[in-house]
Amino acid sequence: MERFRVINSRTLYEWIKYPKISTAKYIILHDTGVDANQSVEEIDGYHKNHNGWKGIGYDIYIDRHYAYETFRLYENIRGAHCKGYNDNIGISLAGATQFSSSQYEQLCEILERLLLLNPKLKIKYHKELNVGKIDPHDSLTMLIDRDYKIAREL
Ligand SMILES: [Zn+2]
Repeated sequence: MERFRVINSRTLYEWIKYPKISTAKYIILHDTGVDANQSVEEIDGYHKNHNGWKGIGYDIYIDRHYAYETFRLYENIRGAHCKGYNDNIGISLAGATQFSSSQYEQLCEILERLLLLNPKLKIKYHKELNVGKIDPHDSLTMLIDRDYKIAREL
């Protein structure tokens, strides 16, 4: 099984048929908490070999160069990213305290596509849902709170 693939205009077009996008209530945002630009292969390997999961726990991963969708999203497999909320859509950005403008632009494009396909989706942060979690960093949540007031219910 292909465990992840780069998001492009063709894969975005296919999102219309992904069940998870219509059944989810939340888009849950994360970061890796690591400044190094961890590749999707590294995250996938760590979640598989260290955590013993099927592979990368997120539905979408955005590194410093590309955005990827994972088997969790296109194979409609439950995520592994937020205790009690794993039937929702998990998106993680590579980074700890700073994110590039290209990462933010890619995140916005993805959020807007998800909200277009399912306008009832609300954006949540991992740190709001699981006690003890601190991600994503304020430098990201400040921008999201500013740009996505309706989806944040602010
Ligand atoms: Zn998280």
